[in-house]
Amino acid sequence: MNASPTPAIRLPGFAMTLIDALEAEGHEAWCVGGYVRDALLGRPCNDVDIATDALWPEVKRICAARGMRVYETGAKHGTVTVVVPSAADAHHEAEHAVEVTTFRCDGSYQDARHPQQVQFVSTIEEDLARRDFTMNALAYHPQRGLVDPFGGIDDLQAGIIRVVGEAEKRFSEDALRTLRACRFCSQLGFRIDEDTYRAMLAHKSLLAKVSTERITHELDALLLGAHVRDALMATVDVLSFVLPELAAMKGCAQMTKYHVYDVLEHTAYAVENMPPTRLGRWAALCHDMGKPAAAFFDEGGVEHFYGHAKVSEALAGALMDRLLMSGAFKHQVMKLVRHHDDEIRLDNRAIRRMLMRLDGDPVLFRTLCDLKRADALAQAPAFGRGRVGKVEKLRRMLDALLEAEEVPSMRALAVSGHDIMGLGVEQGPAVGRILAALLSAVVDEQVKNAREPLLELARTMI
Ligand code: ATP
Ligand code: MG
Repeated sequence: MNASPTPAIRLPGFAMTLIDALEAEGHEAWCVGGYVRDALLGRPCNDVDIATDALWPEVKRICAARGMRVYETGAKHGTVTVVVPSAADAHHEAEHAVEVTTFRCDGSYQDARHPQQVQFVSTIEEDLARRDFTMNALAYHPQRGLVDPFGGIDDLQAGIIRVVGEAEKRFSEDALRTLRACRFCSQLGFRIDEDTYRAMLAHKSLLAKVSTERITHELDALLLGAHVRDALMATVDVLSFVLPELAAMKGCAQMTKYHVYDVLEHTAYAVENMPPTRLGRWAALCHDMGKPAAAFFDEGGVEHFYGHAKVSEALAGALMDRLLMSGAFKHQVMKLVRHHDDEIRLDNRAIRRMLMRLDGDPVLFRTLCDLKRADALAQAPAFGRGRVGKVEKLRRMLDALLEAEEVPSMRALAVSGHDIMGLGVEQGPAVGRILAALLSAVVDEQVKNAREPLLELARTMI
């Protein structure tokens, strides 16, 4: 074993507990993968993976004998999940789940994703050779130090994502690795090695075989990354296989005085300008998706995108379905995209009206403010600055309004469905329509939110 001098990596107590337990019984155990990478980068990470030469039933026996719970989460591939209880944890933190995997190399792959069978091997170096990128093919042991057979430390220092071994082979084995590379690019701000990227492009079509859940999981992480703008720009030709909407955005120039970027670059900036929430980032990604379809040039050669928000909303909805997002999440993304470009007058009536359109949800409204700001900051500075100022005023007015009065919502309405039926309206959609019209009248200050005036107005609607 070729371990280099120990750099300052601190393993959490629960990881030490496990390594000590395995080694006390004559086995070898290492901390591997993401934890080592992130520790060397000084990034926070709690997700610990352990590699060991012990076969999984032996891992199970050793851990169970010490009072740890063991789950056979991937026993077929040599992986068990061990829950280290807080009592065994030097830091007395909560329980920690740790994946412990037997040293292995992967046999031939089926369906561009899963190894047909795995082979257990006896050395950590052989195990590291099956891992995806050099920066992830590092092992660390508190006494024996680092094992770095593929130049992972150099690549970490240079900020390069480079595949372990032959790029073509590694991406054809497992197509998810292409998306992992894009995601790491966004999380770490690294660039992808040229040969590695060429192979990613050549094998992107294999992503068709990867499960939607895994794709969505990687895209979520990519969008939440601190370097998402650069990642989107650098990897768009790979990403477009799962997000074909991006292909039309690339090179879709915006020949207006408001813009200095094409739709893709504008979008990439807007995503990064957005606070890192899943909802906000997806809404920003989708907000201008309809622009390529809505674009036209007038006789003066000026480009317009009338109605693009509606097309973007439709594309966002279809995309959310395709990626198997929940109905509630899809609904919120669509609302934000639909209204991202709406002019909201700076008066309480207009703000109440928008709040109503946003399901009376103040959080959604604040996210809309974030989106408007992120969008404005991604425009030509001369125009963006003024718009940012307006959004901040809007946000302050919204806060003041929410402080001063109850959010107008169906629930806060002074009459209920029962009251409407009491007026002789039959149970059914008509009741909902009347309630919505009453709410709208309250929001517009045409009627007070009080029982008698509302019932009087309702009578005129029957
Ligand atoms: P993070 O936990 O931040 O997502 P990670 O690198 O730890 O990043 P995991 O999915 O936790 O990713 O995997 C742990 C390790 O297993 C990786 O660091 C890598 O060594 C290896 N690995 C994970 N997925 C693959 C894959 N698809 N192909 C090859 N090796 C992989
Ligand atoms: Mg991990």
